[in-house]
Amino acid sequence: MPIDATLPYDDGNIFARILRGEIPARRVYEDDFALAFHDIAPQAPVHVLVIPKGRYVSWDDFASAASEAEIAGFVRAVATVARDLGLVPPGYRLLANVGGDGGQEVPHLHVHLFGGRSLGRMVAG
Ligand code: AMP
Repeated sequence: MPIDATLPYDDGNIFARILRGEIPARRVYEDDFALAFHDIAPQAPVHVLVIPKGRYVSWDDFASAASEAEIAGFVRAVATVARDLGLVPPGYRLLANVGGDGGQEVPHLHVHLFGGRSLGRMVAG
């Protein structure tokens, strides 16, 4: 079920639990600002999620409430993960779902990083 991205942060969400090490994830990168791990239901040969370490529900929440250092650190981490995965060439796609119409299901900001094949046009369905 898509979430209401205006709700307060829920510390019990699944990505908060991954950040706390309470449930496993196939981690690919971590620094002071971000954690990256493989999506449990990949939709491309490479499908990695990158999440900020701070308590932010969505891109909207993050952009308005995060510090400059957190924003810069997160943006750089996303790019680093893509680079480290060898995706700069041939290319990749970033996607952040926000709220109901965006189809966001986990209420902790995450950027999807897709690659490993030609990804076609942007929006389906
Ligand atoms: P979204 O619809 O943008 O909120 O995407 C949530 C994503 O989280 C989906 O692609 C799920 O497959 C993925 N996901 C849910 N639970 C886990 C988990 N425990 N580990 C890794 N990915 C997960």
